[in-house]
Amino acid sequence: MDESHFVIPNTIGVHAVAAKGMRAHSIDEVRQARKIARAEKLRFVPLGEGSNILPYARVDAFVCVIDLKGIRVIAETQRHISVAVGAGVNWHLFVQYSLKRGWFGLENLSLIPGSVGAAPVQNIGAYGVEVGAYIDRLTVLDEDGICSTLTQSDCQFAYRNSVFKQSDRRTILEVEFKLLKHPEVRWGYPDLRAELTSVGVLAPSPNQVAAAVMSVRRRKLPEPAIVPNVGSFFKNPLVSVATAAVLRARHPQFKQFSTVDTVGAACVKLSAAQLIDTAGWKDKPSATVACWSKQPLVLVNLGADRLEPIMSFAEDIQRDVLDKYGVQLEVEPSLLF
Ligand SMILES: Cc1cc2nc3c(=O)[nH]c(=O)nc-3n(C[C@H](O)[C@H](O)[C@H](O)COP(=O)(O)OP(=O)(O)OC[C@H]3O[C@@H](n4cnc5c(N)ncnc54)[C@H](O)[C@@H]3O)c2cc1C
Repeated sequence: MDESHFVIPNTIGVHAVAAKGMRAHSIDEVRQARKIARAEKLRFVPLGEGSNILPYARVDAFVCVIDLKGIRVIAETQRHISVAVGAGVNWHLFVQYSLKRGWFGLENLSLIPGSVGAAPVQNIGAYGVEVGAYIDRLTVLDEDGICSTLTQSDCQFAYRNSVFKQSDRRTILEVEFKLLKHPEVRWGYPDLRAELTSVGVLAPSPNQVAAAVMSVRRRKLPEPAIVPNVGSFFKNPLVSVATAAVLRARHPQFKQFSTVDTVGAACVKLSAAQLIDTAGWKDKPSATVACWSKQPLVLVNLGADRLEPIMSFAEDIQRDVLDKYGVQLEVEPSLLF
């Protein structure tokens, strides 16, 4: 197999090539890829479906698409079911598979693009639920080709964050979920509640929650195959309680949500979409990049072949929001260079 000049799959719609790369269908193939990367002194980058990356045209790395399949039940009690899922299984297909079997918990995360293996990396979340809450253990491969198990607490899950986002060099091979056999429906998130009550649903089942989530997402978010994007381009910023108080005095219209940061200290989450919208970016497209009108946190690629114009548009937004409101927006997807 020729691993040279591997075209990197990505949903932002740019042309990007890695120095080397391959698609691995077994743990042995992942090991082999790591060996080649080490021998050639190339950084090893595991990849899923490319829906949360921003790759430059030439990526000086060995990119390995982790395409390990398989779903197996490994334990069951009266209340829970433990299911081990290959990193290469499509996330939404697994959510649907679990709901069909009466395994609950992931319904609010329906229709998030990407693979099961990437879900823990940024602790995917939507409509009031984060995947980390349902992950029991992970099987990972380290730089020396040795497999080990990480527990939920090893992963340090936080808002759009985990140990894997912070320069962790391990590759996720399999994720073990602990799902519920009796539903605990969470539908307090305003958009979700409005969607359900608008059709007269007042005590939703997990399947009704999943259907409502899908309907809101289809209405609000661009389909990457049609309008290339990576979902939220920026994280919702977390600011100190003191900064939030200053902001509240100056801009009382900004939504604020009390939360805790990665070390458990009290802080305040702001809506990045609201900051971007209020700063006027919804109506300021460039020649090739724009904010999606129904969700300005999503930047859409209208024809850029390379990442530079997209990053330059994003940097203009960051500068403007910082100047106007004193808030730094952090790019959410991983940059590949
Ligand atoms: C339209 C749209 C909507 C979205 N909505 C949401 C949302 O609601 N909530 C949310 O949280 N995210 C959302 N996202 C972002 C994205 O779907 C998730 O981050 C998803 O988990 C990425 O999966 P992927 O397989 O495409 O990962 P990739 O883009 O392939 O990789 C993402 C990162 O994970 C690393 N990685 C991938 N696989 C592995 C592995 N096996 N082991 C170790 N590291 C790995 C990569 O190196 C990279 O750093 C959205 C994206 C789009 C395009």
